[in-house]
Amino acid sequence: MKAIQVIEPFRVEIVDVPKPEITNPDDVIIRVTSGGICGSDIGIYNGTNSLATYPRLIGHEFGGIVESIGSAVTNTAPGDQVAADPVISCGHCYACRIGRHNVCRDLEVMGVHRDGGFAEYVKVPAANIHLYHKKFDESLLGLAEPYTIGVEINQRAQIQADDRVLIMGAGPIGICAMQVAKRNGAKVIMTDLVKERLYKAKEMGADEIVSVSEENLEERLDRFTEGEGIPVIVDTVCIPSSFEQAVKLACPAGRIVCLGLKNQPSSICMADITKKELTIVGSRLNNHCFDEVIAGFEDGSLTPQKLMTKAYNYKDIMDALTMITEHPKDVLKLVLKFN
Ligand SMILES: [Zn+2]
Ligand SMILES: [Zn+2]
Repeated sequence: MKAIQVIEPFRVEIVDVPKPEITNPDDVIIRVTSGGICGSDIGIYNGTNSLATYPRLIGHEFGGIVESIGSAVTNTAPGDQVAADPVISCGHCYACRIGRHNVCRDLEVMGVHRDGGFAEYVKVPAANIHLYHKKFDESLLGLAEPYTIGVEINQRAQIQADDRVLIMGAGPIGICAMQVAKRNGAKVIMTDLVKERLYKAKEMGADEIVSVSEENLEERLDRFTEGEGIPVIVDTVCIPSSFEQAVKLACPAGRIVCLGLKNQPSSICMADITKKELTIVGSRLNNHCFDEVIAGFEDGSLTPQKLMTKAYNYKDIMDALTMITEHPKDVLKLVLKFN
């Protein structure tokens, strides 16, 4: 079968590899119909993703149709439309034992630490398979994973109805988190430097948008919260100064979600955290968030069709990568089609 492999940084090829076979009773083989290209795939391509090893069959956002199942699999059957959770954990470390397997000590993500789903077929453990219940557009089956990042963010920040939420950055993660927050009944204000992204965020449901190069964010937040200050901040910008700004902006008893993976320190005053008794949490990957995403796809509150900027045949992966690197402002999510 064909698969997309990053041989080494800046060298991606369509390779011929053996089609996966059932070897364990809980194996599920999926005929992949679509995958989403993520910032971390770009990082593997250009050598800036420190977690990746080479050569690597990439792709952690993928879905498709079940082709065959092992003898012990009961949660799915051939022909089902499914999304696959790329998070693989050990099951017995501290994090796994307390139900936080997405930060497992020996965490592996398909498409990053081990081979992924940008291939005609992929083998996934049955526990990582999640079913679509209604017939869904095949080119969108791979877009559940980015929305699970949004669900995890909402869970980590305990976002609920009537919460006022500031999402810094209107890229794909910010927009997924926003749609999930809206689904939870919150009111969301989003910032970015790029107007096109802000308009897209508004079109997809953000209550308010702020172009931070032109407007005073504090004034806007003041109006947005009737002077109370912002209680929930999601930082998808992930640079040292955005984290510093979040700690300054959060109101007393506020919650801040961090998503950055860079090893750059921020200058944070302890007193800001102590005096306001802030809750600062990390959010990584997803912890059993697929079923909530699929429910959102099926009730129409989450709109992957609007997240998708364009679909490419997987053989045109280089065109897609070029589009993302040369026109980042115009791309929210590019999809690869495998059929
Ligand atoms: Zn991703
Ligand atoms: Zn573990």
